[in-house]
This record gives sequence, C-alpha cells and structure tokens, in this order.
Amino acid sequence: MIPDAEFGYELLVCRYAELAWYPGDDPRPAIVSRQLGTKRRRWDTVVIEVDPEAFAARRAFGDRALDSDLLHVVRDAPATWTWYRDALPDPGYPWRYVRRAVHRAGGRELIEKRRRGNRIEIRRHRPYPDWVERIVAIENKPDLDRSAADALADQLAHDVETALADEVWLATETTGDRVEPALLREMPVEAGILTTSFAAGDPESDDDPGIEGVAVDPAAATVDWLPSDLAPNDPSERDPGTVTRRLEIAERAYGKGWRSYHDTMRPDCRHFELRRAGRALVPRCGAKDRCPTDRECSGSCPEFSPEPPAWRTKGWPIEGGPGKGIQGLLSRRRERVRDRIEPEE
Ligand code: SF4
Repeated sequence: MIPDAEFGYELLVCRYAELAWYPGDDPRPAIVSRQLGTKRRRWDTVVIEVDPEAFAARRAFGDRALDSDLLHVVRDAPATWTWYRDALPDPGYPWRYVRRAVHRAGGRELIEKRRRGNRIEIRRHRPYPDWVERIVAIENKPDLDRSAADALADQLAHDVETALADEVWLATETTGDRVEPALLREMPVEAGILTTSFAAGDPESDDDPGIEGVAVDPAAATVDWLPSDLAPNDPSERDPGTVTRRLEIAERAYGKGWRSYHDTMRPDCRHFELRRAGRALVPRCGAKDRCPTDRECSGSCPEFSPEPPAWRTKGWPIEGGPGKGIQGLLSRRRERVRDRIEPEE
C-alpha cells in the first residue's frame, strides 16, 4: 500500500503514463498533466495524445499555455493584415476584451499587430496547428473501498456521458491480492481499469516501505479492462464549445505538465526533498518523514522553515539554493519530455 495515498499515488500514475503510454499497447506520443478539467469536474491525471508534427508546430508558439482569450485570437488570426473584428469570430461578449487579448497576443509574439488609423489589424506568424489527437482522463484511487467505489462510479459515469475526454480510466493499486472484482464491476463498462503494483517491499513486513520504496516502470501496471472510445465517429460532430473546452484543457496540460507541484508546494522549505521512486521523483518532507500533500506543504504548515540564506550563498552548487534548484530540475524535466516528442523524418 502506498503511504500518503492520494497525492503521492497521483504523481506515480503521472510518471507511469509518461513512461508507458499507451498501457498494454504500442507507445503513443503524449504529454501528461494533473488536476485539470472544467469547473464542474477535475480529473486527477490527464493524458493528451498528440500528433508529433503538429505538436512541433505548437511548440513554435512558446512554452506557456494559451488561455481561452488568446486561443480565440491565435486560432483565427488571418494570413494577411485584417481588422481584428473582421478576422475573428464574434466572441459573444464585448469586443474590448478581445482587443486586450490581441494586445497580449502581440506582446507574446503569437501574432503580429499594427495600428491603421483607428483600427488595429492583425496577421498571424504561422497557423495554429491541430495538435491534439485524443484526451484521456484517469481517476486515481489507490485504496478502492466501497464508499470510494460508489463515488467514483458516479464521477466516471458523468465523464462517459459528457464525453469531454475520448477515454476514461480508473487507476487503482493492488496490494498483492487482486482488487475486489465486485467493486470494479460497479464502474461504468465504458471506463478502463488499470491496476498498478507500484508498492514494493515485503508485504509481510510491518515496516512502511515509504514512497521511495515503490517502483514505477512500464511493467508496473496491468490493463484489467479496456475502455471504450467515447469520441464521435466524425470529429466534426463535436459542438464548437466542446472543441474549445478540450483545447483549453490541452493547452493547460501543455503549459503545466505534472511536475508543477513545485509552484504550489514549498521547495524552499529546509525540510523539502525530492526522493527517487523507481523512475519517478516525488516530494518528501524530512520533518513529517513522508510525502506531504500539496495542500499541507504550504507557508501555513506549522513545520515550515525557510531554507537558511547561507544555503543560497555558501558554495551551494546550484544557483539560488536547493529550493530554486528543485524548481529548476522539475522544469527541465518537463522540457525534456516535450523534446522527446519528435516529428517523424
Ligand atoms: S515542513 Fe511543511 S512546508 Fe516544509 S516540506 Fe514539510 S510539509 Fe512542506
């Protein structure tokens, strides 16, 4: 059993997906993120399968996500200079907000803009590519008991019904025995079931193996049930609102990745460490002697203790001290994952 279950498990599932997508089948180019969705529904792990050529074209727009306002401008920016109100679809809200987004897009060099008399004209640098192939939502539940199964069955049924994702999965951890089949039978048949065996150590031992005792590698999960494809046969059947919402999710996944917990946790606390868990790096709190949740690892944590200034100045090998070093390391890993997706020659 994985200690500090939910958060630590979520990170391990993300790393597994990064290493081994698609489960039980040939690899597919994909990026992984976590805690994304809509106002109503937030998925634990999100896998965006991408078209490598188009993904390379998306990368030309930079490493930051495009929010919905920027997408509205960038997706429809024309090839030739045009007044922005002629070029872009009616937003359904005041044009002055679009004008602001045009200026932001210009400031980030996503498009070109110029003023002609009273009018602002825009022109694209390059077309915004159709880079998202499929969106997969994974709900993580390391300890699947009766009440968790009931709640999850409802959530997954909602996902199946809305079909915002192309595929939904439940990931759950085995503890040596099989996961209780009766609980799995409650899940909608359209949802896939992935049972992981990340936990290592002697199951007879009373010693808690700690999260660093787990093994994340491509063989650490088994497909118990394959999911149904929820995508319409003809993608053009999707209504424009759904298409936009999916793209917003994919953009947030692109900008955020799954290692961005360093933005919300406190890697600048002297107790914060990264520990190896098989082929994953997960946070560990030296004071609590376990993986902290991202909620408790904050400035209001009673044991929070800022790293001493001396760590940042006295020959610490990484500029800015350990906290900055951890942030840099996780950002570089996110970058490396994007680099791995290359168009075919
Ligand atoms: S002591 Fe608190 S703030 Fe510091 S690493 Fe641990 S959980 Fe995070």
